Amino acid sequence: MHQKTIKQLSSELTLKKISSVELTKEFLKRVRLYDSKINSFITIDEERALAEAKEADVLIKKGANTFLTGIPIAHKDIFCTKGIKTSCGSKMLDNFISPYDATIVKRLKEAGAVCIGKTNMDEFAMGSSNETSFYGPVHNPWNIENVPGGSSGGSAAAIAARLVCGATGSDTGGSIRQPAAFCGVTGIKPTYGRVSRYGMIAFASSLDQGGTLTQTVEDSALMLETISGFDKKDSTSLMAPVPNFSKEINTSWDKIRIGIPNNFFDSGLDSESSNLVMEAIKIIEKLGAKIINLDLKHIDLSVPSYYVVAPAEASSNLSRFDGVRYGYREKNTQNLNELYKLSRSKGFGDEVKRRIIIGTYVLSAGYYDAYYLQAQKVRKLISQSFVNAFKEVDIIIGPTTPTPAFKIGQKMDDPIQMYLNDIYTIGANLAGLPALSIPCGFSSGLPIGMQLIGPYLKEDLILKIGHHFQKETNWHTHLPAEFL
Ligand code: GLN
Repeated sequence: MHQKTIKQLSSELTLKKISSVELTKEFLKRVRLYDSKINSFITIDEERALAEAKEADVLIKKGANTFLTGIPIAHKDIFCTKGIKTSCGSKMLDNFISPYDATIVKRLKEAGAVCIGKTNMDEFAMGSSNETSFYGPVHNPWNIENVPGGSSGGSAAAIAARLVCGATGSDTGGSIRQPAAFCGVTGIKPTYGRVSRYGMIAFASSLDQGGTLTQTVEDSALMLETISGFDKKDSTSLMAPVPNFSKEINTSWDKIRIGIPNNFFDSGLDSESSNLVMEAIKIIEKLGAKIINLDLKHIDLSVPSYYVVAPAEASSNLSRFDGVRYGYREKNTQNLNELYKLSRSKGFGDEVKRRIIIGTYVLSAGYYDAYYLQAQKVRKLISQSFVNAFKEVDIIIGPTTPTPAFKIGQKMDDPIQMYLNDIYTIGANLAGLPALSIPCGFSSGLPIGMQLIGPYLKEDLILKIGHHFQKETNWHTHLPAEFL
């Protein structure tokens, strides 16, 4: 059962070959059996999952089901879930039970998806390895000594180990695509504004975007069409119509121009990853695409500009965690200042504090022009180079990450090395573009991801090309040996 995709399981549910309660029990059994090896969940709610599965079975009986009705999924613990702990991977919110559902959660619930629990993540989504979580690191199912990537590492690992069929994630600088690549699964970050941010705990609001992690592109299309669309509760949500992605991906194409950025295949890219991505591009070329080499100007400045803009927004967003309204509160303090200071000192971990300090510094009077304003100008230049590139090509393809998953502990003492992991993914966030990562091979037993970046609102195009690629290859069907 667990080897099957959402699409396949959905048809078995509709044909009543299996019930959602049976399916949910099967996945819960796997979670019990395997999650202790990888630590992909922060909260597992069996009772609630079975109650939702029962409701789903009623809908299926009535013929009122969608493709997602009765399908076991999980939410990254950054999404508010009514009545269940929403920790954001932090001690600060270890005691927080959300009084409402995020829009993503609400839409998936309305579609009848069954939520098994909340997945582990880097604290406040700051990290590329899942090692900053208050709940301990997540282990990569392909080699449990390695990281799963981050910050949506719990969601990616849970899909790779087939503990759920689909999961939500959030991506501020690569947090869906990078763990998808490290764990050999499919991950999509939609266009900024395509999916509502309401109820998704804010990290850097101008970059954050919710999306999905699944086994296949087809399953991503099914989840994405469910969660996308305007939401009046998010002022940056786009009013654009949502295509029927799962239908669109099956249409054929006529002459697609694929841009290969020379600066994505630089000396920082591991040579085996480079070869695998190049071979994958050749497969797409054979399917009917023209390859065009291009230079994405200023893209080398994406990491430095991101590490000014993102911490600046984070320092502002995280000021709400002051020990007063909700979250961790230090007891026995003498005055208000001490309450703030001790609650924040003890509630936040080191990486979050580093970002708050950087962010506060770059926004302070005297430094604002030198750092923050400068970074915003660079951001604009990077966006413009994507706009220019899309005058010549339809989509851009390159690697998702410079290397396969590294060892747990390997980069924790070297933040710069850790930050450089997102060198190929951050550009799409700075420019607000949709981007997809799909598996395209293995290097020494570890998965490698290929990234497809599209113009604004062209999720349908990147999903279509990704889907046709998955019809030609089977990288997305492999399962790690210990989780068969
Ligand atoms: N790794 C990047 C960071 O730590 C991106 C994280 C994300 O996309 N949430 O900021």
